[in-house]
Amino acid sequence: MPRPVEPDAVQPPGGFVHTFLPGRVVFGAGALERVGAEVEALGVRRVLVIATNSARAAADAVQTQLGDRFAGRIDGVAQHVPTEAAEQSRTQARESNADAIVAIGGGSAIGLAKAIALTSSPQQSSATGGATTEGSVGGGGVVVVAVPTTYAGSEMTPVWGETAAGRKSTGVDLRVLPRVVVYDPMLSRGLPVKVTAASVANAIAHCVEAVWTPKADPFTEVVAAEGLRALAGGMREVLATPDDLDARGKLMYGACLAGSALATAGTGLHHKLCHLLGGTYNLPHAETHAAVLPQVARVNASSVPQAKARLEAALGTTDLAAGLFDLFQAAGVPTSLRDLGLTEAQAEEAARTFQPTDNPIPVTEGLVREILSRAWAGTRP
Ligand code: NAD
Repeated sequence: MPRPVEPDAVQPPGGFVHTFLPGRVVFGAGALERVGAEVEALGVRRVLVIATNSARAAADAVQTQLGDRFAGRIDGVAQHVPTEAAEQSRTQARESNADAIVAIGGGSAIGLAKAIALTSSPQQSSATGGATTEGSVGGGGVVVVAVPTTYAGSEMTPVWGETAAGRKSTGVDLRVLPRVVVYDPMLSRGLPVKVTAASVANAIAHCVEAVWTPKADPFTEVVAAEGLRALAGGMREVLATPDDLDARGKLMYGACLAGSALATAGTGLHHKLCHLLGGTYNLPHAETHAAVLPQVARVNASSVPQAKARLEAALGTTDLAAGLFDLFQAAGVPTSLRDLGLTEAQAEEAARTFQPTDNPIPVTEGLVREILSRAWAGTRP
């Protein structure tokens, strides 16, 4: 079987713009112990802790570290940040005079913290050590410290989302970007393999799409390829030994890079298709990526040959689209939209209603129909 090779001559970029986002990453097994010190260094006084149900023990440990700064706790979070939950949490943050939040959990817990930060007033914060003007990190309002326990990557992005009456609104605002992210691979050791595999598929989608979005640039490409290498390697090892700490560390490192690639490259055809499917037909967020990504890679990857070669080398394949499909299948994530409950008529309807987006090749209704019909049937690229 031919082996993938890294492109040996780097092509000089024709010109690009890259914005570095501020923020601090603390990474390592046992890093949870450092949350209290990181919070103290921010100069905040009143800290609300938000924790997913499975992270209660970690939240207890953080509560102890916070001492007098502890201002309250929200245990248990709903997916996709329902507006009702966001409003209740905003009230709790205001009434407890919180000027910071420590969010422990996956994209749902971190998403709730972001929703509070987005609308908090500047008076609510006493944080130091960073800019405090509107549109800056924290924006002078409540600041977020994120402690992720899945691989979704939200902790590295300034993207927020909130759902009302079945419709998810999203936006980009530096006020929601976590000021500090503490990655402790021990926290994801018990993440069930099924949830792990779907979450990794979500992270891999951030890496792959980051090379062809309108904002893709050479820095992001390097980060995305390294992220994919870590995620694919870590996934294979976790399938064999789910609680292997080194493998969990690879996945968290990959998730960090993937989130950072998403944060700078933004989203494109693949994510926009997934959001349409998730929002309109209520498909599960992470799993939808596994069904759609190989089909979008099949049509897009050859338009970005250097990035394609890098991603293939990272994945250990000579065909990016087929390699992704095979990895997701091996991990047991559904690779067909039919298996996620979508009907063929709904796939057809989605192809008709999808709004074209910037993409390396023109997004016609025919192209979208081809992607979605293959994703619906789960056809190997
Ligand atoms: P999630 O936070 O809902 O977690 C998935 C499941 O795993 C939940 O049932 C949770 O309780 C459980 N869980 C979490 N950590 C665990 C652990 N260590 N052990 C055992 N169980 C654990 O989902 P997610 O996939 O992390 O995030 C998805 C959400 O994040 C979606 O709403 C998505 O839109 C959002 N997201 C946002 C961004 C962004 O940049 N804003 C990026 C990616 C995802």
